[in-house]
Amino acid sequence: MRVVEPSYTILTDLDQVPLVERIEACGRVCYKSEDKISEGSAAAFVRRVLAHGHNSVAEMGVATLEIEVDLESTLGDFFACLPRFMHIDRVEKKRILMTGSVRAWRELFLENPSNKVVKASLALLAGREPLLFEDIAPKSGWREQAGVAVRKLPLAEVEKLDAGLLARHRHIAVRFIVNRAVTHEIVRHRPCSFLQESQRYCRYSEDKFGNEVTFIRPMFFEQDSDEYRLWEEAMRRTEEAYLKLLETSTPQAARTVLPNSCKTEIIVYANLLEWLHIFRLRCSQAAEPSMREVMVPLLEDFRKLFPRVFGDLVVG
Ligand SMILES: Cc1cc2nc3c(=O)[nH]c(=O)nc-3n(C[C@H](O)[C@H](O)[C@H](O)COP(=O)(O)OP(=O)(O)OC[C@H]3O[C@@H](n4cnc5c(N)ncnc54)[C@H](O)[C@@H]3O)c2cc1C
Repeated sequence: MRVVEPSYTILTDLDQVPLVERIEACGRVCYKSEDKISEGSAAAFVRRVLAHGHNSVAEMGVATLEIEVDLESTLGDFFACLPRFMHIDRVEKKRILMTGSVRAWRELFLENPSNKVVKASLALLAGREPLLFEDIAPKSGWREQAGVAVRKLPLAEVEKLDAGLLARHRHIAVRFIVNRAVTHEIVRHRPCSFLQESQRYCRYSEDKFGNEVTFIRPMFFEQDSDEYRLWEEAMRRTEEAYLKLLETSTPQAARTVLPNSCKTEIIVYANLLEWLHIFRLRCSQAAEPSMREVMVPLLEDFRKLFPRVFGDLVVG
């Protein structure tokens, strides 16, 4: 067995790569198959997960569009679509900003294929990222719409928005390596998108996992204490049982003995407004200490990245 410290990585590097590659990089966390990323692997991976209905993978990248349209005449039609999981702001009389994940854009089109604003938005997105929309393309192909001007906002422009708009439209992904109790709490934050290492698919007896189970060091016990030794012994026995079960059973059956201390990777993707909410709850003294262990330093990193949004945040 292996024991590791909890950690996190802010995935700003992924903000610079095409959406398809970003989605592959995040999606492979579920299977721990990052070693299979190669030139050209993204297309096959993304097609496969979308065909299998593993749709949350398509939530791992967002696009912000600036849409110019005569809102007085089209607004009613557009809002009748009830766009879901989108952040929409009217920034001028005839101009809106709209941010949604690839999944949200795809579903908006599937549910409202004849709406002019939706069609114009998808024509732009599908032109830039054809692979992500090829399976839902209309028979007549993607077409621009008269009277609707759509432009994708580059990230650099999103970052120059005023603090309120920045918080709503800028999304950030963080990969945590934490125990299963912490991931269980994190996934309660409903406006986020998540992808998490799957104990159904990962077989920890394989070479790539070192043929062993990895646990997160509990911050509650001193390393030389009786409590720590008791915990260590319990994990050792658990690992033995897990590996024994794997000789005759699938990972999904063997995982039934795995405990809260099991190491898990999870990607949490949300806009800055939701991260503010998460930090308020998860850095506070009332939060679970193993959660605070990662969230308190993460907040300090967010303050440096986005001082206009997190600079003044006080947590109790
Ligand atoms: C100290 C602490 C102790 C906890 N103890 C327990 C416990 O014992 N048992 C337990 O089950 N949970 C517990 N929780 C989890 C807690 O109840 C929330 O589920 C979790 O913190 C997610 O936060 P949230 O619901 O405020 O917002 P999120 O899910 O992060 O949502 C963000 C915001 O979106 C809005 N929102 C999202 N979904 C809805 C909706 N369906 N309806 C209306 N508004 C919505 C709200 O404005 C919300 O503030 C605890 C959390 C903390 C921090």
